[in-house]
Amino acid sequence: GILERAPGVKSLREGGTLGVISEKFSPLTFRNYQDDVWDSAKVALVTQKVFKEKYEQRRVGCFNCPIRCGRFYSIEEGKYAGLRMEGVQVNALRGFGSNLDITSPAEILKANAITNQYGLHLDGIASVAGWIFECFEKGIITEEDLGYRVGWGDIDSFIRLTEDITYRRGFGNILAEGIQRASKKIGKGSEKLAVLVKGMESNEGRMRSHRAWALGIMTSLRGGGHLDGAASVEGCGFDDELCNSVYGIPNVNDATDYEHKAELVVWMEK
Ligand code: SF4
Repeated sequence: GILERAPGVKSLREGGTLGVISEKFSPLTFRNYQDDVWDSAKVALVTQKVFKEKYEQRRVGCFNCPIRCGRFYSIEEGKYAGLRMEGVQVNALRGFGSNLDITSPAEILKANAITNQYGLHLDGIASVAGWIFECFEKGIITEEDLGYRVGWGDIDSFIRLTEDITYRRGFGNILAEGIQRASKKIGKGSEKLAVLVKGMESNEGRMRSHRAWALGIMTSLRGGGHLDGAASVEGCGFDDELCNSVYGIPNVNDATDYEHKAELVVWMEK
């Protein structure tokens, strides 16, 4: 069937969504969208292979799914020994890894775990943290505002910020409203660092390189996420026959090409 012929299916089964990222291909949002690619030496520290060798226990999946792209992890030693959790999908690698410039797989697992524990939306909290880290870097938000310093690569400041937002403590009470409302209250140029789609936070990579992917995210009903119409097939190696038989359009494999991308997004959003 079509599933078995799609290269993406094989990759998802073998490596989950983390498997799409490698030192050679790393369209990962860097420091609140300051760039759309992460240093390959940093990517090498957090590839799917590293997570698998050090922390993976078993494959997991949604009910009845023939792909089962999820993974269950366990940390046996170090600061977070005893942590058991499901994740990390590629949005966690991007949101907590490249976006916050954290290169420790155990720290990315921890960030994902507390997000789950507090019932937060992963893209939302990762985006708010990236935005605050950049506001701090640019001097828009200070230690006096927060009560502590935050900085790129610092998991402890992320955890503290997340707890303040969850319990609406201090400055966290403003940030819990989301970037759009918080940036209006804070002002001082913080609005210019806010990356929003239809008022929603966005934690997505490939926005500068993949045309249908970006168009789908920009035009999706809710806004900001890739689950409502972003085409993930660009660059996946679909041949002419497969594209025609599934989408009724010629090949859309070239991510940077604009041809037929609008039609592809319409197909996806239907
Ligand atoms: S349905 Fe669930 S397990 Fe299957 S590919 Fe999608 S997210 Fe992964």
